[in-house]
Amino acid sequence: MGTNVIAVVGGGAAGLAAAVAAAEAGARTARAAGAAVPRVVVYEADERVGRSILATGNGRCNFSNADPDPALYRNAAHAAATLAAFEERARAERAAALGAGADAAWPGAANGVQAFFADRGLAWREESEGRLYPLPNKATAVLDVLRAAAAAAGAEECCGTAVTAVEPARRAGGPLTLRMADGRLERADAVVVSAGGAVARALVPDAVPLREPEPTLGPIATETRLVRQLDNIRVRGALALWRGGAPAAREAGEVMFRKYGVSGIAAFNLSRMARPGDELAVDFLPAVGEDAAAAFLRERARALAATLGAAPTCEDALRGLVLAPVAHVLLEAAGLRGDRVLDGPAADALAPVLKGLRLKVEGLGDVRQCQVRRGGVEVGAVDAATGACRAVPGLYVAGEALDVDAPCGGYNLHWAWASGLLAGWSAADAVVGAPARGEERGRR
Ligand SMILES: Cc1cc2nc3c(=O)[nH]c(=O)nc-3n(C[C@H](O)[C@H](O)[C@H](O)COP(=O)(O)OP(=O)(O)OC[C@H]3O[C@@H](n4cnc5c(N)ncnc54)[C@H](O)[C@@H]3O)c2cc1C
Repeated sequence: MGTNVIAVVGGGAAGLAAAVAAAEAGARTARAAGAAVPRVVVYEADERVGRSILATGNGRCNFSNADPDPALYRNAAHAAATLAAFEERARAERAAALGAGADAAWPGAANGVQAFFADRGLAWREESEGRLYPLPNKATAVLDVLRAAAAAAGAEECCGTAVTAVEPARRAGGPLTLRMADGRLERADAVVVSAGGAVARALVPDAVPLREPEPTLGPIATETRLVRQLDNIRVRGALALWRGGAPAAREAGEVMFRKYGVSGIAAFNLSRMARPGDELAVDFLPAVGEDAAAAFLRERARALAATLGAAPTCEDALRGLVLAPVAHVLLEAAGLRGDRVLDGPAADALAPVLKGLRLKVEGLGDVRQCQVRRGGVEVGAVDAATGACRAVPGLYVAGEALDVDAPCGGYNLHWAWASGLLAGWSAADAVVGAPARGEERGRR
C-alpha cells in the first residue's frame, strides 16, 4: 500500500508550480478512476512560500519572456526537450481540465506557461525585449495567483520545514523517505525536489550526480584603476567580451559602473561566460559604427568650432556626449590631455576607447547580487520528458535545482514554471497512474 502522498521540497517558483500541477492532475485522474485523491504537501524551509518570487525583477517579477528560446539556456538540448515536452503536456492537461480540444488555441497566450497563468487569472504586459510583467506591476500578483491555485487544488503548505535528505525507496514500489531538519521522517510515493539553485548535495540521494552550485548572472569584477572613478554611473551602451584577442559575445543595454567593476543587465548576461583573463570592452556610443567613430568625432569638432569660435578641445568634444567622469577616464585611457585640440590624430586615439574601453576581467563581482546558481543536479541524470531521476524511481527535479540557467529577461522563471509543472504532472502520473490519461489521449 503506497502513501498516496506527493511531496514537493521547496515552495519557490518551480515548487509551487509543481504543487498546482500535481494536485490538479492527481485529483482529476484519481476521481475519474474512482481512486483516492493524493495528498500534495509542499515542504518549505522558510516561514512562507514564494519569498524568492517576491525578490524577482526588482519586486515586479519578470515572470516570463514572449520568446522563451531554448537555445538561450545552459544545457540547451535538455532545456529544449523539457520545454517541448512541457508544451505538449500543457495542451493535454488543459484539454482534460477544460474539456476543450487538445489543439484549441490558448486565448491571449502564446505558450503553456502563459496559458497556465492566464487560466488562473494573471494579466500581464510585455515590456522591452519581450519581458513579461504582471499587470499590477508587483511580484505579489504572481505569487497570489499561484497560492490561490495551489489552495484551490488542495495542496498543503508546510512552512518552516527544511528537508535535509530525500532517501530512495527501500523496496521496489515502496515510498521515498524525507528526512527533516527537526529529525522527523515523512514518506511519499513521489517527491519533487525544487529547492532552488543552492540545492545541497546531501538533499538528493548519492545515486543522483550533482555539480556543486556556483553563483552566476551577476556583476563582473574588473581591474579597478579606471572604473573606480566611475562608481555608480550608468550609461546606455553595450559590452563586448573579448577572449584571446577575438570578440566572444556582445550585450547591449544599461551598463552600471561599480568600484569593483561593471554591473547592469549587459554585465549580468556576460557574467555567464566571462572568465578571469578575458577583457570587457565598454561601448559608450553603440549607435555609431566602429569605423565611423573617428569621423563622427571630427564632424562633431567641426560643428562645435562654428559655435565656440575656436577649435574645440578633446574635453569640449566629449562634453554633452558622455558625463564628465567618463570623459576624464576616456581621455586617460587614450593618453590625451583634456585641453588638447581635437585634431585628426586625437580623434583617431579617442575613437577606439569611446567604442571599446578595455577592462581586464578578474571574475565575478559582488556574488550576493547574482541571480542564479550554475550547477545542481546534472541534466544527464534526469529524463527531459518528465523531470524524473533515472536512478531513483519516484524522484523528480525541477527549476534551478537542475543544471539549467539562462540570461536575464524572464527565462529563468519560465524554466522554473515549465519544469515545475511538468515534474508535478509526472509525479501525479507516478502516484495515481497514467493509464487513464492514455485512454483520454486515445479518445481524442
Ligand atoms: C534578486 C533576483 C532577481 C531575479 N529576478 C528574476 C526575474 O525577474 N526573472 C526571472 O526569470 N528570474 C529572476 N531571478 C531568478 C529566479 O528567481 C530563479 O531562477 C527562480 O526563482 C528559480 O526557481 P526555483 O523554484 O528553482 O528556486 P527558488 O525560487 O529559489 O525556490 C526554492 C525554494 O526552496 C526552498 N528550499 C531550499 N532548500 C530547501 C530545503 N532543504 N527544504 C525545504 N525548502 C527548501 C527555498 O527556501 C525556496 O523557497 C532572480 C533571482 C534573484 C536572486
